[in-house]
This record gives sequence, structure tokens and C-alpha cells, in this order.
Amino acid sequence: MSKFECDLTADLLPVYLDGKASPETVAYIQEHIKACPQCRELYDAMAGEIKIPESPVVINKKIRTPKQRMWRFVVIYCLIFAALVVGVSTILIWGI
Ligand SMILES: [Zn+2]
Repeated sequence: MSKFECDLTADLLPVYLDGKASPETVAYIQEHIKACPQCRELYDAMAGEIKIPESPVVINKKIRTPKQRMWRFVVIYCLIFAALVVGVSTILIWGI
């Protein structure tokens, strides 16, 4: 493989991966990648980058620190306590 062919492949790979390459370019790149380990490696790296979803951000949002979990517990406990107080007061005031 000549350096020119490898440079050309590297230049065309983003277009190829976007699916916007012409049929001739697609054929050229597929043929070159098959024969050239260096460009195949580059292709694998670029294809891998594109396939990474943005889900880590979503996953991070769901992870709570122990402090956040403690506060959640405190809030729930206070609500239950408030409900009990209201319930008991109601029973005492109305004498049910
Ligand atoms: Zn190459």
C-alpha cells in the first residue's frame, strides 16, 4: 500500500462511516481496508468512536451518593412522622 492510498483512505473514512460516500469510494475503502492492516485498525478505532452511545450521562444521573440516599431517607421518614402526628392529632381532637 502506498502512503498516498493510506492518506486518501484516512481522509475518506469519516465520509464512509457517515454513509455519505459514493459507491466508488465505498468500494475503494472496503478493498483497501481488507488489504491494509494499518487502515483497518484506523477504521476499527473510528467506527468504535462513532458507536459509543451517550448513555453514560444518563447512567450517572441515576447513581446517588450515600449522602443523597441518606437525605432521601430523612425526607421520607419526616413525611411518615408528619402523617402520624396529623393522624394522632385528628384522633385526639375529634375523640374518635
Ligand atoms: Zn492503508
